[in-house]
Amino acid sequence: MPRYYVDRTERPDGNHEVHRAECGSLPQADDDVYLGEFSSYHPAVRRAKKIYPGVSRCNCCEEYGEDQ
Ligand SMILES: [Zn+2]
Repeated sequence: MPRYYVDRTERPDGNHEVHRAECGSLPQADDDVYLGEFSSYHPAVRRAKKIYPGVSRCNCCEEYGEDQ
């Protein structure tokens, strides 16, 4: 299953982006939090929301074709 990370850095809109491990925009290891392995974005985002209340999906990861 894919591994997911959430960016520690807050975006201008107040959200923290969730990325897959393969993502080209994945921050440096010190700047992200490992969430775990999930079958899709949904459970990964749920996990990320326990860390940060504002979470959004990384736009560059949409090429993987999962549902929102
Ligand atoms: Zn990404």
